[in-house]
Amino acid sequence: MKVYLDNNATTMVAPEALEVMLPLFSEGFGNASSFHTFGSQAKEAVEQARQSVAALLGAEASEIVFTSCGTESDNWALKSVMEEAGSRSLLLTSSVEHPAVLEVGAVLSSRGYGHVSVGVDSDGQLRMDEYEVALKRGPALVSIMAANNETGVIFPLRELAALAHESGALFHTDAVQAVGKIPLNVHETGIDLLSLSGHKFHGPKGVGALYIREGIGLLPRIHGGHQERGMRAGTYNSPGIAGLGKASELAAATLGIEREQVRRLRDRLERGIQERCPSVIVVGQNSDRLPNTLTALFEAVESEAILMLLDLKGICASSGSACSTGSKVPSHVLKSMGVPDRVANSAIRFSLSRYTTPDDIEYTLEAIEESIGKLRKISPYAD
Ligand code: PLP
Repeated sequence: MKVYLDNNATTMVAPEALEVMLPLFSEGFGNASSFHTFGSQAKEAVEQARQSVAALLGAEASEIVFTSCGTESDNWALKSVMEEAGSRSLLLTSSVEHPAVLEVGAVLSSRGYGHVSVGVDSDGQLRMDEYEVALKRGPALVSIMAANNETGVIFPLRELAALAHESGALFHTDAVQAVGKIPLNVHETGIDLLSLSGHKFHGPKGVGALYIREGIGLLPRIHGGHQERGMRAGTYNSPGIAGLGKASELAAATLGIEREQVRRLRDRLERGIQERCPSVIVVGQNSDRLPNTLTALFEAVESEAILMLLDLKGICASSGSACSTGSKVPSHVLKSMGVPDRVANSAIRFSLSRYTTPDDIEYTLEAIEESIGKLRKISPYAD
């Protein structure tokens, strides 16, 4: 049996998305910028996708620009706003952002910009008192994620954006893990810039988007042709964009039902683990979390050993973010939440999708109980 529970790392392309992509590799291969029939077919697919992404976010199609991934969208938003604001300006983020944001903060700092990151509490929630103090320093841009990739903890975007605006800052959110999993409406929430990535919600890899609120002028990301109104030049990845569009359509149509179905399975997994494994800690248990994400700390055993035993049984999970896998560096997210390194090194993240079945969960529970039991017997840290 194969069970894929690493959907926060990447997801399977939905069959419906693949179906719209395939013809654009073959008979519909035209360049979306060409004036002839082949070009128009590709152009139509790109513009249809733009409508679908916009609809998912409650945005206008003219506010969506296609990129290659979430990392590019984050880099573009942050660097552009900060560079326009000037080299003495301040960027405010949370301490638990993805490296696609935190590393940009580090690079900007090395060039003389200011970067302040606000911490989280033991439930993974932003420290609002610290946030309000940091806003008094007058940041040009606030970038706080919609939901954390490791813990699934959801951030109160509406409140955060309103406070950012009161202080005169623009508000960007890295919504790579939230889009397609929870409802998001950029206009109602007051978001100025939002990053998303196709491969996190059953679209293909190699395509993402940046929502840019009407009236915000970003610096062009890539210079060259006139694609994306000259803001991001380069021939359109029409199959990828069409796949992202279809994934957005599917997400918009099934968000409510799917959320409940996935949440039920995640909750079953969570309860089952707590019943079967003594002294397990569920990270962010008291917080509003993504319905598909569960990170558990299996004290006294190493996550790498657990993952190896689960993999032998065909179960794919993760020790946190894909980027820190294998690096043995404890997760900066768990560290920010005050989890000691030794405990953080026992973290396993299970992330479900619409394709996860009840049988997958039951099989995983059996495997976890057996694996943890085995490992705790030989652990030097176990009681
Ligand atoms: N932001 C978050 C919160 C993520 O989880 C990820 C990927 O894991 C990214 C950004 C990067 O997205 P991409 O893989 O599309 O570059």
